[in-house]
Amino acid sequence: MTYTPAGDRYDTMPYRRTGRSGLKLPVISLGLWHNFGHERPWQRQRDIVRRAFDLGVTHFDLANNYGPPPGSAEENFGRILATDLKAHRDEIVVSTKAGYDMWPGPYGDFGSRKYLVSSLDQSLKRLGLDYVDIFYHHRPDPDTPLEETMGALDAVVRAGKAQYVGLSNYNSSQTAAAAAILRELGTPLLIHQPSYSILNRWTEKDNLLDTLETAGAGCIAFSPLQQGLLTDRYLNGIPDDSRVRTSRFLNEDALDKQTLGRLHALNDIATKRGQSLAQMALAWALRDERMTSLIIGASSVQQLENNVATVGNLALSEAELGDIDATVLD
Ligand code: NDP
Repeated sequence: MTYTPAGDRYDTMPYRRTGRSGLKLPVISLGLWHNFGHERPWQRQRDIVRRAFDLGVTHFDLANNYGPPPGSAEENFGRILATDLKAHRDEIVVSTKAGYDMWPGPYGDFGSRKYLVSSLDQSLKRLGLDYVDIFYHHRPDPDTPLEETMGALDAVVRAGKAQYVGLSNYNSSQTAAAAAILRELGTPLLIHQPSYSILNRWTEKDNLLDTLETAGAGCIAFSPLQQGLLTDRYLNGIPDDSRVRTSRFLNEDALDKQTLGRLHALNDIATKRGQSLAQMALAWALRDERMTSLIIGASSVQQLENNVATVGNLALSEAELGDIDATVLD
């Protein structure tokens, strides 16, 4: 059946400006790292993406290697775009990346111009698009000169294959150096994508948000739910269909006694706020306005809905922030 998006899709989702750019992003973005490979039913993927768009989630985050197998998330999302969202391309921000191992040999990994340009060409084919909105370098490359990697990002924008560029997993000093090169090239850094959650605060110690503010760039955090730990998923055991059981990226070791105790304590604070643990974790990660957006994952429409409903209560009191810190900081 033809998909008609919800008429009220822009009524409740807040959109934040990305740094000093003209681009606004929804505070909740949807990531397709897990749950969108060929091993998951396409119809479920389609239901999640449609529901996201209906709820005002206009930004979809991909990478060349998302799947499994690598590339399949772009293929599946490309199929959803073609089937349901073609008429709405200009209402949607599509992001992809290159930087991790993608194909055999010396040209399918890290940060050479050779790799980045051909990888984006491959991504565009899989997505069925002429351009992506944001193209990221996925991780720093210790061996390729930063000038070459940033030059490749600038080149794909000039070639019309990407509208904006981003960096992911760069630390503050790497980010400042890269942003200076991009500024000189005339393609300013739009956004940075670091990991960040109640349980993972490296960006705070590294002053990344200050660096990005100076550079005029936005910030979009990935894994704000710590891959599902900061939800009710593991409070009463490990479900068979959970990431711990189905993915090599999250192991049972992550659920040690101390962490489980903290998750229960955090869940109690969330309950007092009338929120799910996931919702409180998302509100927490958005508390600084310089955080443009969060990229959540969802293996079901229900999870997506629960996460997006966070926007109904983003305010955290000083007392709640103190309670959260007391729970997780040693
Ligand atoms: P999250 O921390 O949001 O974890 C998502 C997982 O948590 C879901 O797959 C689901 O796990 C569980 N979950 C989500 N919502 C709920 C809920 N309301 N209730 C119960 N469980 C829930 O993010 P991800 O780790 O998935 O990362 C998000 C995105 O960030 C990726 O898709 C990708 O786009 C990006 N990313 C970028 C990286 C980079 O290097 N730049 C690295 C990693 C991610 P389950 O499957 O168990 O149901």
